Amino acid sequence: MRYSGFKVIKEALTGHKGWQPAWRDPAPQPHYDIIVIGGGGHGLATAYYLARQFGQHRVAVLEKGWIGGGNVGRNTTIIRSNYLLDGNEPFYKFSMKLWEGLEQDFNFNAMVSQRGVLNLCHTDAQRDAMRRRGNAMRLNGVDAELLDTEGVRRMAPFLNFESARFPIKGGLLQRRGGTVRHDAVAWGYARGADARGVDIIQNCEVTGFRIENGRVKGVETTRGFIGAGKVGVAVAGSSSKVMGMAGMRLPIESHVLQAFVSEGLKPVLPGVITYGAGHFYVSQSDKGGLVFGGDIDGYNSYAQRGNLPVVEDVCEGGMSLMPMIGRARLLRMWGGIMDMSMDGSPIIDKTHVEGLYFNGGWCYGGFKATPASGWAFAHLLSTDTPHSTAKAYRFDRFLKGLMIDEKGMGAQPNLH
Ligand SMILES: Cc1cc2nc3c(=O)[nH]c(=O)nc-3n(C[C@H](O)[C@H](O)[C@H](O)COP(=O)(O)OP(=O)(O)OC[C@H]3O[C@@H](n4cnc5c(N)ncnc54)[C@H](O)[C@@H]3O)c2cc1C
Repeated sequence: MRYSGFKVIKEALTGHKGWQPAWRDPAPQPHYDIIVIGGGGHGLATAYYLARQFGQHRVAVLEKGWIGGGNVGRNTTIIRSNYLLDGNEPFYKFSMKLWEGLEQDFNFNAMVSQRGVLNLCHTDAQRDAMRRRGNAMRLNGVDAELLDTEGVRRMAPFLNFESARFPIKGGLLQRRGGTVRHDAVAWGYARGADARGVDIIQNCEVTGFRIENGRVKGVETTRGFIGAGKVGVAVAGSSSKVMGMAGMRLPIESHVLQAFVSEGLKPVLPGVITYGAGHFYVSQSDKGGLVFGGDIDGYNSYAQRGNLPVVEDVCEGGMSLMPMIGRARLLRMWGGIMDMSMDGSPIIDKTHVEGLYFNGGWCYGGFKATPASGWAFAHLLSTDTPHSTAKAYRFDRFLKGLMIDEKGMGAQPNLH
């Protein structure tokens, strides 16, 4: 079923009887060519591109809960491609291009809104670093504009410019950055994959791998054994748990990241704004809520809820950037489990077990990567070679010291 304006009008006039479920609810088959574990954004995008781009139709996505219940439905919806390092920039540039054609591609309204991402700077040194990043982006063909204080004031006059400690000295603006309705991304990919024959199997937790003579034969699940030629793991915050079942210890830690949304307010924010003197990022949803967040909780956890010291820290950041936020009432807050890699960059790679592949380590930047990650993982699963934009995302970079340390924090996952 194709969605269109004409279809909406027809259904409105005929009692909405012609809508069909957006995806099927199939029982698992005994064997698939490829199984993708994890029905988050990355798993569903992988299945979609496997079918659409690489002609693989005997594919299943196994999800332990419901699709969209993980980080893909919990994030603060920011997309951008303002990276500095060569290992990252081509990949995120590719992702941004895919976002720009995504809704037409899978015929689903994901509310892709390129309203701009503005990173503020508060010291001369920070401005120099932003200039360098902006130049690197432009050398890679990505849009970047350096604004001075007056340029920022024209965009967002309500910010606290004259703060004695952290005056706003300018900002790096990527106009093509913005926000996307997060759960619609999961639904759009699910619908597109299902239409191409992919089985999306919810309430099906993978509990083990069957590995014989160094080769994966399938997975044990709460709905029985399912055989597979290849298995791709895309379970984000559960990466260490799931790969542990295959006997692998990953260079990844799991941490909680919290997000917050205020009551609906009149439009005030022009786009996404990030505070450079603390860790605070904020945008405004189409319903008017201020959607914001900050740092991860600094300890390892698999809980999908966080603690008060980080709430306080995030709110302090918000208050120093835009003091009027203190008048807004908080509507909701929640947490998601982040797969924090040692250098803050992801892994899309084969493992030493034949037929077993891994996608993870997205830290808190994996939503914006969803389309490129799905495409690159589908490429790897189909062709056994890495996609040209994801060649650097290998396990052995930690062995060889080829870290992609965008933040310059070293091997400290809690700081990335
Ligand atoms: C609060 C918050 C804010 C964020 N903000 C941003 C942002 O603004 N921009 C950005 O780019 N990124 C952001 N992120 C990060 C981004 O959401 C994640 O990096 C990304 O969504 C992870 O990939 P995913 O969508 O595939 O993960 P998920 O949606 O978590 O998918 C993984 C799935 O695997 C399933 N699973 C786990 N174990 C098993 C098993 N044994 N068997 C079967 N299924 C299993 C889980 O149930 C889950 O549905 C944020 C994250 C959080 C939590």
